[in-house]
Amino acid sequence: MVTDDSRSPISVLVVEDEQNILNLLSAYLEGAGHRVVRASDGGEGLKIALEVEFDICILDVMLPTKSGVEIAEAMRDAGCDTPILFLTALGNESDILRGFGAGADDYIVKPFSPRVLLVRIEAILRRHQNGPSNHDQLLVCGPVQLDNAQPLCLFDGDPVELTPHEYRILRQLLRHPGRVIGRHSLIASIYGDEDTVGPKAIDVHVHHLRAKLRDEAGEMIQTVRGFGYKFSPSAARA
Ligand code: CA
Repeated sequence: MVTDDSRSPISVLVVEDEQNILNLLSAYLEGAGHRVVRASDGGEGLKIALEVEFDICILDVMLPTKSGVEIAEAMRDAGCDTPILFLTALGNESDILRGFGAGADDYIVKPFSPRVLLVRIEAILRRHQNGPSNHDQLLVCGPVQLDNAQPLCLFDGDPVELTPHEYRILRQLLRHPGRVIGRHSLIASIYGDEDTVGPKAIDVHVHHLRAKLRDEAGEMIQTVRGFGYKFSPSAARA
């Protein structure tokens, strides 16, 4: 087994509907000291991917309710940049191309050796750590600092207590300063693939967030009418 004790355990989401592959993969990754969350349905997998931070997501392409490609698209739409590795059946070039179009980092063709998969995972994580798309440990924008490793927010150096939903919304906005983030992306990122939550729920969280960040006027977290919100770096610095 390829293990490297100097490497800290990683958290992996595996979405795969073939039970034997799911079991094999989980057993292998756990044997290498990693933490594995599994799902065997696409919709369920997406929900988990958006709710929980993983180091990497391994997605089968053909899945019940939502394909791996659809999961990847929804993750990227929601601003989630967790590395994605696709599992695909032999010869499905179109899947592979769609997968890369949806923001995949790599793919592996079934049947595969778990050892090769682990090596690929490690290569993706190395690239990701060195690359520009790295999850920033610390998001800083004007007076606002958000720690990605732990839910900690500072405003002008003072800690601000945020609810998990407020934290997720702020993180998405800070990851893309100046860019408009749609309400539906925000809903997906905090509630997962749920149609029961209306856009009003997001507005309420943003209202509280603004109050906590002394931005009642909405100059820093700006409303983009009919669409969503954006974080204005210039207003934040002013
Ligand atoms: Ca499948």
